[in-house]
Amino acid sequence: MTEAEVEQQLRSLGIREGGVLLVHTSFREVRPVEGGPLGLIRALRRALGPSGTLVMPTMTDGESVFDPRSTPTTDMGITAETFWRQPGVLRSTHPGGSFAAEGLLAERICAPQPLSPPHGHDSPVGRVYDLDGQVLLLGVTHSEDTTLHLAEAIARVPYSVSHPTVVEVDGVATSVPIAETDHCCRNFRKADEWLRARGLQREGTVGRADARLCNARDVVAVATERLAANPVVFLCAPGTGCEECDAAHASIKA
Ligand SMILES: [Zn+2]
Repeated sequence: MTEAEVEQQLRSLGIREGGVLLVHTSFREVRPVEGGPLGLIRALRRALGPSGTLVMPTMTDGESVFDPRSTPTTDMGITAETFWRQPGVLRSTHPGGSFAAEGLLAERICAPQPLSPPHGHDSPVGRVYDLDGQVLLLGVTHSEDTTLHLAEAIARVPYSVSHPTVVEVDGVATSVPIAETDHCCRNFRKADEWLRARGLQREGTVGRADARLCNARDVVAVATERLAANPVVFLCAPGTGCEECDAAHASIKA
């Protein structure tokens, strides 16, 4: 598939020219695209136009001091790993939950943030939400949708699990616990039915991948509504064999 064809698919799906777009993607699902991951990145940039802003997660394992100029991403896929290394692309500085951004609002999206929560309102994903950005899931599901962690932070869910993360304190590499709303994220897929029921999710094909497109504000609105009714709606039931969700349940104070 050519870059121009992918650009057309993105436009048909509803990518807003001049908008802010947060992309989670698995290139394995999208390929083949002329130019590989860079071809996909160019198609995304062209669909957004010169006044748009492209954002991708560039999270890291936190096992060494994070350097936004050199630390490789962990499990973010080849597209994000390629994106942050391009000239003119900024990368935020959270030691585990960094994002890369390029375009008009990149500096604002990559501004410093608190360590915890990594994906709270004052974070790159929170800024995409504030800027009325769109979320594109390309060959991945809502289980990869970081905006749902933002919804958990805004809804103040009762669970929080800390992970040791290496940061530099007075020039010395030090492991500090960073609390986040961590779990297996499988139940984030429930967002499909919530958004579809209200016509808030556009679906189509980009490259060869299933694509989902929604407004960050809609994702947060439907999720916080469900979380208000059931604060553990995203966790697997206790004792059903999911260690990550069991840890989240155990963190809830009586
Ligand atoms: Zn689970």
